[in-house]
Amino acid sequence: MANDLVIRALKGNAKSVHLSSRNIRTLSKAFGKLTCLLALHLNNNRLASLPTELQSLQQLTELNLGNNVFEEIPPVLKHLSSLKKLYLFGNRLSTLHPEVLEGLPNLTVLNLNHNSIRLIPPAIQRLSNLEVISLVGNQLEEIPAELGLLRNLTEINVANNKLAEIPRQLYNLRRLRKVSLARNSLTDLPEGILGWENLKILDVAGNRLSMFPFEFQFLALEELFFEGNNLVKLELFESTQEKEVFSLKELAARLILKEDLNKSSVVSRALRFLPDLQTMLSRWGRCAVCFQPFHTTWLECVQFINLRKDMKMKNSQNIPVRVLLCSYSCFNKSGHSYYGVARV
Ligand SMILES: [Zn+2]
Repeated sequence: MANDLVIRALKGNAKSVHLSSRNIRTLSKAFGKLTCLLALHLNNNRLASLPTELQSLQQLTELNLGNNVFEEIPPVLKHLSSLKKLYLFGNRLSTLHPEVLEGLPNLTVLNLNHNSIRLIPPAIQRLSNLEVISLVGNQLEEIPAELGLLRNLTEINVANNKLAEIPRQLYNLRRLRKVSLARNSLTDLPEGILGWENLKILDVAGNRLSMFPFEFQFLALEELFFEGNNLVKLELFESTQEKEVFSLKELAARLILKEDLNKSSVVSRALRFLPDLQTMLSRWGRCAVCFQPFHTTWLECVQFINLRKDMKMKNSQNIPVRVLLCSYSCFNKSGHSYYGVARV
C-alpha cells in the first residue's frame, strides 16, 4: 500500500506525503526517490527504523515520526540537513545521539514529548536555529547549561519530568516567550530571572517552590500558572531575633564590596591585580532596605506581590517573592513590607 503511494507521489512530483495511521512497520527504500519531497508524515504507525535511502530527501523540511516505536533517533536523519521540523513524540527514545543532532543545523522545531529520555547531551547546542523544544513527559533529571546557548529559542516545554533545578544559563535566552516547567521537583528558580525579558507565559505548577526569585515582579508576564507548590503563606506570629555577630570575613567582604562599587576607589583599582580575591567576591547581593552589598550572610525575607495590582495580570492572587536583607537592623527599620520567613 505504501509503495503504491510512492509511485503515485513520484508521478505527481509530490511535495508532501501523508501516511499516518496505516500500521506501517517498514518503509520502502523507494521513498528515497521522492527527492522533491518537502514534508513526510509517518506518525501513528509501527516504525522502528528508516531506510538509509531516505538520505536523498535533501529538500525535506518537515518530518513527523510521532507515535511509532523508535528506540533511537533514526541515524539517517543526520544527513537531512534541510530539516526544520522534527516530531518524534510518543516513541521509545531513551538517549539522543549527539552525531544526529550535529547533522540538523536548520532545525527550528523539535518535539520529543512522551519518550523515556534521561539526558539532553551538550551537543544540543549545535541546533543553533532551534526556536521550539518540547520534552514533555520524559525522565529528565537535569537540563544542560548548553541549552542556554540556543539564543533563538522562543519556547521550552519540559513539563512532567524529574527536574530538581534548572541552570541559571537559561536566563540568557532573551527571546523566550513561553516556558513550562510544570510537574517537576523544583524547589527554587535561580536568581537572575529578569533575563527572560520577553517571557509572556510561565508554568511552574506542581513543583515544590516556596517563593519566586528576586525581582520576579518586574517580568512582563501575561500568564502565570503556579498551583500545587509549597508557597510561603502570610501568617503573622511573634519571632525572636538572635543576636547578630558577623564574622570578620563577612565584615571585610562588605567593606571591600562597598568600596569596589565605586570603580575609581583605591580598593577597586587594587582588586584588578588580585584575581583570586575578585573571584571570591564575584557573587554578592544587595540589601533591599539599605542597598548596601553583602557577601555570604543575609536575611531571607519575602514580599507579597499582587499579580493584578503589581504585575497587571488577570489573576488577583498574591505570590511570595524573595527579598534579601543585610541584617536585622535593616529588617527592624520601619517603612518596608518585607516579612521574615519561618520554616516549620
Ligand atoms: Zn541593609
